[in-house]
Amino acid sequence: MSTLSSVPTSTYLNYIGGEWIAAASGQISEDRDPASGELIGRFQASGQEDVDRAVAAARAAFDGWRRTPAPKRGEMLYRVGTLLAERKEEIARLLTREMGKVLVEARGDVQEGIDMAYYMAGEGRRLFGAIVPSELPNKAAYGVREPLGVVACITPWNFPVAIPSWKTMAALIAGNTVVLKPATDTPLSALKLVEVFHDAGLPPGVLNLVTGSGAAVGMPLVRHPDVAAVSFTGSNDVGREVNVEAARTLKRVTLELGGKNAIIVMDDADLDLAVDGILWSAFGTTGQRCTACSRLIVQRGIRPALEERLLERVKGLRLGHGLEAETDVGPVINRAQLDRIHGYMQVARDDGARILCGGEPAADGALASGSFFKPTLLGAVRPEMRVAQEEIFGPVLSLIEVETLDEAIAVNNGTKYGLSSSIFTRDINAAQTAMRDLASGIVYVNAGTIGAEIQLPFGGTRGTGNGHREAGLGALEFFTEWKAIYVDYSGRLQRAQIDV
Ligand code: NAD
Repeated sequence: MSTLSSVPTSTYLNYIGGEWIAAASGQISEDRDPASGELIGRFQASGQEDVDRAVAAARAAFDGWRRTPAPKRGEMLYRVGTLLAERKEEIARLLTREMGKVLVEARGDVQEGIDMAYYMAGEGRRLFGAIVPSELPNKAAYGVREPLGVVACITPWNFPVAIPSWKTMAALIAGNTVVLKPATDTPLSALKLVEVFHDAGLPPGVLNLVTGSGAAVGMPLVRHPDVAAVSFTGSNDVGREVNVEAARTLKRVTLELGGKNAIIVMDDADLDLAVDGILWSAFGTTGQRCTACSRLIVQRGIRPALEERLLERVKGLRLGHGLEAETDVGPVINRAQLDRIHGYMQVARDDGARILCGGEPAADGALASGSFFKPTLLGAVRPEMRVAQEEIFGPVLSLIEVETLDEAIAVNNGTKYGLSSSIFTRDINAAQTAMRDLASGIVYVNAGTIGAEIQLPFGGTRGTGNGHREAGLGALEFFTEWKAIYVDYSGRLQRAQIDV
């Protein structure tokens, strides 16, 4: 055991019961910079024993934490927000090295954590319940929100500070205790967040971190009888497996899964604004946001001008290390993902799409040691093609031409996902119609598909999840359950529904 998060060889430890502890197996795994291949650190390859330990620590801490007045829990989160703000630059730089996104976006990732800390700190003084009248005299009736118990938070690599912050902060303000399992590609960012909680003085066991693979750590958490709920963000395949396994022990589960998000551009749109919005949404974070725009649905009249303008801008995007100021687009997360994206280029060709630019990995000079894919625009894409239906999760945008708004909306809604949609138009009637009919959890008008703010519920319809929302008040719905309380001060037996 150690009281430091790391030892000199940059081997990082789990955080369990307020202490930094090595995994029982003694196994470690390596974390590398996707832009350079450089070793960032070694992390605990944990397993069942570590999960058991972490859940036991969280369980032991639960009563103390749930009885801590919510405003006091809020003060703790406020301290976390302040410390995170002080360390924003340091953590953002580590995040860029670990995950690859450009520094300006890494700062935004940490900022989401800061925003969420302050927002949830405020919830500590609200956590609104419900007071309703009783049908009987001299009787009070009200509902309070109660925490669930030990919550497992399983997170992906694409928002390595923001998503762990969304989940843990909402869970904690509600009075739950947490075991956090970060993605294997980005354990350091999560560990830095947990360090902030530790330094803010969070009581031991209230938040625990266990690093390791999905099979060795994630699934044991999902199956654990003492875990009350699982908050999962990741791919559809894993999400489905998590849901099925969690059902065996009747756990509450929230799933935030994939997307196939689209921007609609109508003939009357502001072309310059649309091009800026498309570039930001499709190639920001190298197309690896769950809300990234991967389909561009464009009305016939404006299509040639938009395509020309976009092509020029996409070809001008500079690939490089996210810490370099001139870089527009960083690497993709790892080699496996690079190969997967590359594989989709053949799928596109086979289905009859045209590669207008990009379409291959970039390996010139300094890019050779990283996982870089050229920003890609696919033309002549039809809505039913695989590249227009499946989540590619990389810098690849498919251009689909349509005639009318109705057709655009039908194409937007014609995938299994329903996360984020956007429309560029100057026509108020078209905008209103789109807001009503786009079947997604998030709709933007005259802005791209990315840029959610933490005070509104976040999540998607249909195949993007299982109906819950993160962030905003949506998060509290998931992380609390209702207790109905009746106080009879009549001094006699009163029978509801009978003494009418
Ligand atoms: P992933 O499903 O591979 O992994 C997500 C997490 O689950 C990781 O921590 C992983 O280790 C763990 N895991 C893997 N197998 C597991 C198992 N059998 N049991 C339990 N846990 C397991 O996803 P990823 O590649 O890390 O992330 C990319 C995906 O996440 C994309 O599909 C993206 O759209 C989605 N995503 C969705 C949202 C959203 O809010 N809707 C946000 C970000 C990312």
